[in-house]
Amino acid sequence: MDATILIVEDEQNINDILVYTFTKEGYKTLSALDGPKGLEMALSENPDLILLDVMLPGMDGFEVCRKIRDKSDVPIIMLTAREDEVDKVLGLELGADDYVTKPYSVRELTARVKANLRRSAFAAEGENSGDKNAEDKNTIISGDLTINIERYEVLKKGKVIDITLREFDLLKFLAMQPEKIFSREKLLENVWGYEYYGDVRTVDVTVRRLREKIEDDPSMPKYIITKRGVGYYFNK
Ligand code: CA
Repeated sequence: MDATILIVEDEQNINDILVYTFTKEGYKTLSALDGPKGLEMALSENPDLILLDVMLPGMDGFEVCRKIRDKSDVPIIMLTAREDEVDKVLGLELGADDYVTKPYSVRELTARVKANLRRSAFAAEGENSGDKNAEDKNTIISGDLTINIERYEVLKKGKVIDITLREFDLLKFLAMQPEKIFSREKLLENVWGYEYYGDVRTVDVTVRRLREKIEDDPSMPKYIITKRGVGYYFNK
């Protein structure tokens, strides 16, 4: 099945290049030239991945990202205009899965798209494999938290919580090796992987988002604990 990529980019020539590139790679593409149209298509067309520019007419990429995240966990890669740390961190806080800084090489962007689609394909496979035995083996239970590795699902007090793939990957990585402290660099390497040029604050931002979802009181975390000056660990 061909994955569908929604390209939200207002510069017509860049939009055209992206459509051309990903069509040639074998994907279906959809394109929008402004924020409101991008949001509408993201919600009505069910794309498998969204490339989202930050500077857009009508509604900026951050706002579009936030509004999509209210309704969907589709992978979102933000296209940030420059090496702007604020853009990166803000995008991730709003729930983007990844970002690519302009000017980017088509090769780099294609690699990121493939990596993000691969992760979400694994997630979709997990949803379909409802074998009970596998379920027991692949479930981590800690306090009021249940992490189902196969199904890419996290339940808090028995209720499924909305979580992005990156947040899930981070939680899974920490929870599978409870009490072991990982530096932010180590987490970046293991959870983000693939030539990730991000800085370690990416990890902090994702931890913060995760805590807001899984902790009763994010300022007094019980699950993901900060070891000052060292890193983070999962408290089983
Ligand atoms: Ca733009």
